[in-house]
Amino acid sequence: MLAAVDANGIPVLLAGPDAKNTALRLKQTPHFCPQCGRLVVVRAGDVNIPHFAHESYAFCHSFSEHESPRHLSGKLDLFKWITRTHEAQMEARLPDGSQRPDILSGTIAVEYQCSTISASLFRSRTEKYCARGLNPFWLYGGPAIERKGRFIKLIPFQRLFLRYHAKIGFYIMAYCPDTKLFSIYGQITPVTPSLCLADRLDVNITEMTFPPSSVFSKDRHFSLSAFFDEKRKWIDRSLYYSNARTHPFFRAVYESGRNPYLLSEEIGLPVRSGMAIRNHPVEWQFYIANERKSGSIDEAAAIVRSRIETGHLKEAIMPLAPSMTPEQAAADYVMLLNDLKMEIRTDSKSMGGKVQREEQFCLAYEKQIIDRLIF
Ligand SMILES: [Zn+2]
Repeated sequence: MLAAVDANGIPVLLAGPDAKNTALRLKQTPHFCPQCGRLVVVRAGDVNIPHFAHESYAFCHSFSEHESPRHLSGKLDLFKWITRTHEAQMEARLPDGSQRPDILSGTIAVEYQCSTISASLFRSRTEKYCARGLNPFWLYGGPAIERKGRFIKLIPFQRLFLRYHAKIGFYIMAYCPDTKLFSIYGQITPVTPSLCLADRLDVNITEMTFPPSSVFSKDRHFSLSAFFDEKRKWIDRSLYYSNARTHPFFRAVYESGRNPYLLSEEIGLPVRSGMAIRNHPVEWQFYIANERKSGSIDEAAAIVRSRIETGHLKEAIMPLAPSMTPEQAAADYVMLLNDLKMEIRTDSKSMGGKVQREEQFCLAYEKQIIDRLIF
């Protein structure tokens, strides 16, 4: 922690170019945690930046564990960045003491999150801020997002930071105190359950406005034919690594006498809210196509929900993009079929025929599908 109070209740902050000398001076007198009122000690070593620390974290609800050097120095950078142009309070105490943002500026509650927390804790903190009329601004501070060629791989913790903006699609903002860079991953589009295409923009903290705004290129990297190629590779990998007789999707495909490689192109298309389901679109769209009777949106949503309940599909929790749900993904899919007047055709008879049909399908629909997917 970087803020404390002295014996008279006067707030002190360990920030600024003279923080080390301030810390050495403050060591002479007792200081207290503004949240729990317990004694804290000044730490001013050579490795970590000067900070206050509880002697025991057992009794403090606001600081439940040691803060990592990365979290402390990131928080300090962000505080300096915000206070260049705005009033802000470090480790602000909110009225009932139940929540403590890293930094509070106006109605923006900054949470710089470096260590992994559970989806339920992330969601409940977000909801509590919103209930107070505050806007939580979560910034990812954990290990770098893994890149794999043109793709990124997001772990479940990183997915919690996903937000959606009409202009940049799904995006994640990260800050690294070592490089002083904000990294904004925009236009994040899932290609398989684990790989996403994304644009990345690095902005130095000295060049970033608060609140952040940034312009992304209008270039689109997404192509439907590449998506189809990745789908084929995903089927290869899945069949290689899992047992087709126990994998719910492959079992359903084989039980209906079909071949997963030859399924018609209308089954397994990318849709905007597809991020809300942690499975390949071919899986949940197959269930819809196979089980639907009326073809309505409600019916498709119910099919997806019941497969989530049986554990055949997995819902992705995105506390910062609450309108993106599995039901919305099902609705996006049904509307795509209806608006583009697509019939779900019978499957291809051979791989050669399949490849030809995919090419024709891309020529006919690629632009409309991508237009609906992003931006
Ligand atoms: Zn405390």
